[in-house]
Amino acid sequence: MPEGVRSKERTGELAYYQEKEELMSRDEMTALQSERLVKQVAHVYANVAPYRKKMQDAGLEPGDVKGIEDLHKLPFTTKDDLKEAYPYGYLALPLSQCVRIQSTSGTTGRRVVAFYTQHDIDLWDSCCARSIAAAGGTNEDVVHVSYGYGLFTGGPGLNGGSHLVGSLTLPMSSGNTERQLQFMTDLESTILCCTPSYAAFLGESAHDTGVIDKIKLKAGIFGAEAWSEEMRRDIEKSLGIKAYDIYGLTEISGPGVSFECSEQTGMHVCEDHFYPEIIDPATGAVLPEESKGELVFTCLTKQAFPLLRYRTRDITMLTRAQCSCGRTLVKMKRLMGRTDDMLIIRGVNVFPSQIETVLINSGYPANYQIILDRVNHTDTFEVQVEMTDEMFSDEVRVIEQKEKALLAALKSMLGISPKVKLAAPRSITRSEGKAVRVIDKRKI
Ligand SMILES: [Zn+2]
Repeated sequence: MPEGVRSKERTGELAYYQEKEELMSRDEMTALQSERLVKQVAHVYANVAPYRKKMQDAGLEPGDVKGIEDLHKLPFTTKDDLKEAYPYGYLALPLSQCVRIQSTSGTTGRRVVAFYTQHDIDLWDSCCARSIAAAGGTNEDVVHVSYGYGLFTGGPGLNGGSHLVGSLTLPMSSGNTERQLQFMTDLESTILCCTPSYAAFLGESAHDTGVIDKIKLKAGIFGAEAWSEEMRRDIEKSLGIKAYDIYGLTEISGPGVSFECSEQTGMHVCEDHFYPEIIDPATGAVLPEESKGELVFTCLTKQAFPLLRYRTRDITMLTRAQCSCGRTLVKMKRLMGRTDDMLIIRGVNVFPSQIETVLINSGYPANYQIILDRVNHTDTFEVQVEMTDEMFSDEVRVIEQKEKALLAALKSMLGISPKVKLAAPRSITRSEGKAVRVIDKRKI
């Protein structure tokens, strides 16, 4: 029987696709990562001109990297580096050895194209297979892939993973909701893979068209966009499933760079292939575990497009706290924002998404405005929040109490105290239907 394929008898047990790597001891993992990094650095130094130059500029030779503890010596790679070198600058092997190209959506300027050898595709597929197995997938399942296929990595990644697990794979691609629901009911799909917003829409459509009772889904693997815990609960309720998060990016391979397990408290990083670091986005310094900062990845095993210390611009934190699923792979928390959105207020990094989380958890609508100014060389920080009709009160004392409670919750999340001002329902101005979140007068 091929690795990872589970017989019916095994269904219900905790299943791992690659038990050896997923349950590896810390010492073994570090040794494996070190060995792989040393080989990888030699490979890129020999074959990728921009890396050779960057290392030479930094006075580094491949021999200076003797293990994972030396990783911090290597220069970072940014999205701008890849755009400048488009399309072949970071290619590490002759095209004759590559079998696939995938690409980013390129919403801002030039796309990034990523190259894969068959080995690179296989390891990517295996990471997606880990994700499907962690969501309870076996060869008894029908995996319904509603991510887009084509240059986008979502469809091809989960498709490959599903094959490895031995599930029956439905390559639906995105769109045509009526057809999605028909296949889902006729062929009894059990695991849905798509973006969380499309999952929410499918759930809504299934209720509206009255087919919800015919749906046999048990799990969903949702990624490629940011989503909240609240959205997870809504999707789980609507479709009657357990919803798992998955993370990835084309520059590093695609979905499956990290994946969620039954504990649903963050995503295990496939760190035997993709080594994660958290850095201070302002200084580039590597931060200790459980610190919030920018996520950086180094490809330890990829051959054709092996990026070193790639800055994802995603904000999260890493934790090695023991997980109930038994996996020892380091976990990254749900994404907490993008470095592009980061505000520095009185020297503290603040993300609008953190404020949003506090508001949702405290029962407020996510309609708020952050107003920053500078008075006597000190930043002022005000958060205006809209109340719902039910919350609104004419009594000043009632409003003040609410403001106090919200201030305490915000202070605990952000580490600094804003001035909190509750506003009447629908009083925060919107432009083109969307609220302007941040008004930074400090720059004026
Ligand atoms: Zn786990």
